[in-house]
Amino acid sequence: MDSINPNFKRRPQRPLSNADDLLKGILAGNRSKLGQALTLCESKLATHRKEAEKLLQMALPHSGNSVRIGITGVPGVGKSTFIEAFGEYLISQGNKVAVLAIDPSSAKTGGSILGDKTRMELLTQNENAFIRPSPSGGSLGGVARRTRESILLCEAAGYNVILVETVGVGQSETTVKNMVDFFMLLMLASAGDELQGIKRGIMEMADLVLINKADSPDDPQVKMAMGDYKRALHLFPANDNEWIPPVQACSALNKTGLEAAWSSIEQFQNQQKLKGYWAQNRSKQALSWFEDSIGEIILEQVRASDKFNTFYQAKKEAVAQGEIEPGLAAHALANEILKHSF
Ligand code: GDP
Repeated sequence: MDSINPNFKRRPQRPLSNADDLLKGILAGNRSKLGQALTLCESKLATHRKEAEKLLQMALPHSGNSVRIGITGVPGVGKSTFIEAFGEYLISQGNKVAVLAIDPSSAKTGGSILGDKTRMELLTQNENAFIRPSPSGGSLGGVARRTRESILLCEAAGYNVILVETVGVGQSETTVKNMVDFFMLLMLASAGDELQGIKRGIMEMADLVLINKADSPDDPQVKMAMGDYKRALHLFPANDNEWIPPVQACSALNKTGLEAAWSSIEQFQNQQKLKGYWAQNRSKQALSWFEDSIGEIILEQVRASDKFNTFYQAKKEAVAQGEIEPGLAAHALANEILKHSF
């Protein structure tokens, strides 16, 4: 085009987001800059990644001052209704609330929970709220890493309550549990013995079991369910952090039980800080983030190399054809990587 029309002017390319500029915007609480920063962190381009790492390092001293809350429960239990009501309540109490999500299916399909614009409409419009859908693409580990980075940046932007939502059906709960201070499980009163498909392991991770859709406070079904859950929790071994998870009820629709839920979180925070478990847990989580990232980053970088991919494809084919033992093929691949890296 340029050569045909001498008057054609190329539209100036949007400059690559720069870490210093983004940090300035984030520290000033600029939501649009925060959004751009998160997009930068989600980018797989090597130049973006480098800038993102610089930004994260600079943001680190400004992060950490929040309570990080994981929220899970089966689809339909009322997570998004609850988050909207709870978020509004927290903001009315003077907090700034960020809502992030980890959707295991987004790692496979590129779709994501919270992607639907009709969810949390009111909260989205609130200037003290920041809502971000689950990063999509890549492995669950990759999605988790980006969400952890988002937490740090939201904290640097002054959000003091971070809600991380996930669907209560699989391994993403463990991932979320490993990045939050407090893990909340939403349940229904009409549970039944099988606990509505919620695995016992997920229940064991809960710091609070909250029965949603308890629209009438004296509903005998709610009372019975509360008793059942309390007994179920009692059967688990005591937590190392000495916290005894309460069972409460709420109605996200009628906006009741929200204050009591927050009060439990505050009590948890006070108790854990006093006993030293709060910092201990964060430090443990930072270490596991480091450990998890090593493999993830090595693979990401290696996979970007054509040379590796040729070797990888050849080995993959040989494994599929039964020509080489899978473990041996993996070893050969690892040796090849090491040969070129060190
Ligand atoms: P999610 O899939 O867990 O995010 O669930 P949603 O928030 O989308 O809620 C699923 C349905 O339950 C919606 O029709 C909500 O209006 C309804 N719902 C959520 N909370 C309550 C509640 O406290 N009481 C009642 N009666 N319905 C609720």
